Parts: sequence; structure tokens; C-alpha cells
Amino acid sequence: MLIRMTKALYLEDSYLKECSSLVVSVKDGRYVTLDQTVFYPKGGGQPWDTGKIVKENEDYNVTYVGKFSDEISHEVDHAGLKVGDKVHCLLDWERRYRLMRSHTAAHVFASLLCTGAGVLVTGNQLEMDKVRFDFSLEKFDRGILEDYIGKANQLFNEDIPVKWYELPREEALKIPGLIKMAEAFPPDIPRLRVVEIVGVDKQADGGTHVKNLKEVGHITLLKTENKGKSNRRVYFTLS
Ligand SMILES: [Zn+2]
Repeated sequence: MLIRMTKALYLEDSYLKECSSLVVSVKDGRYVTLDQTVFYPKGGGQPWDTGKIVKENEDYNVTYVGKFSDEISHEVDHAGLKVGDKVHCLLDWERRYRLMRSHTAAHVFASLLCTGAGVLVTGNQLEMDKVRFDFSLEKFDRGILEDYIGKANQLFNEDIPVKWYELPREEALKIPGLIKMAEAFPPDIPRLRVVEIVGVDKQADGGTHVKNLKEVGHITLLKTENKGKSNRRVYFTLS
């Protein structure tokens, strides 16, 4: 049997807002896989995309997108799609673009914290209204974090390109700081995707990003929490 993987168009072009697709499988009427998709599935700290799949004149709202057994599954709000249907995918672009800006901002902030304060990032989650970071740091006060937010905002004023590309695993793993998350190591695949913020950061990453730091805008520190001896939590938001 030929196993066809969904082509994840967002990996190459994160600005693609729509695409034509073919329905490859339908489970329980509402879980749909496609030959190619612009919908990002939940993963790597980035929430899933929403939007709609259109068949002829009927809209199927995409309420959740996840990756199951390496396949990208789109959950739609009602049954009706069938294998072989030609459909059109449309992203909720406002939501996705905000997540792209947040994701790139998160990489800049993590990079500054890791190189400047020597912290180990232990968790990171993008939400629609804020970004959460967990990290370990002994000495901790809000002033230090405000400084890093300020430094990040300076970078967001600059014309700094963001690029993404694949490298052979061995070569990628030689890049210092490629893996920022404690205990996170990249999947066992021969080529790794690298997101490079030129002159600032390189990370192994499968998420969607803006292509220039100027698109991020600015970030504001929301709150900081102590979660134990040296475990810290910080929230920032796009402003
Ligand atoms: Zn990332």
C-alpha cells in the first residue's frame, strides 16, 4: 500500500493563507486528512490553526488540527467531506499571523535569556493573548526581565531577516545553542529544520515565523512568578 504523507505547505511558506487540496481520508465524518495543507497542527508550543475547508459552496469550519501517527488531521465542525473531494483550505490568517509574530518573539527572548543570563528554558507555550516561558534561574527579579524585554524590543526595531531551511542532522547539531529547551531533543529524522534569526539565534524548530523582526512589533512583560527554588515563569504579550 502506498502511504502518502500530507504535504505541510506552511513549513516552506508560512505566509500561504490558502491552498487547493484533495481529501485523502475521513474518520468518523469529522477527522480529515488532505494531500497538502496550510493548517499548522498543534505542536512545539504553537497552537493549531483554525479556518475553513470549502467544498463547492459548503464551508466546513476547522476547529482543531493535530498530528496523529505523523499525519495531519483536521477536525471539522460537521460531516460531509468524502475521500477524493476537491477542496479549498482557508486559514484564519489573523490568528495565524499573531502566532507567527509571537513565535519569532519567543525565539528572540529565549536567545537573549540563554546567552545573557545562562538560563535553561524548561517550557514555552504560545497562547493567543500571551506567551509563557518557564526557565531556571537562581537570581531573579522583575528588573532583569524588563531589561531583556527592552533588549528584545530594540531588536524588533531592526531590519533583521528570519530564514528557515533544512540541514543534515549531524551538521545541524553542531550549531551551538540549537536546542534551547532542557530535555528536548529533535526527532530522529535525517534532516532538521532550522529557524535562523540572522545574527541573533538559530533553533531547531518546526513552527511558523515572520520573515523579518520588524513584523513582530513590540512585547510587554505581563507577569513573573516564582515556581520553586530556581524555577521561574514569565508571561509577555505582543503590544
Ligand atoms: Zn520555536
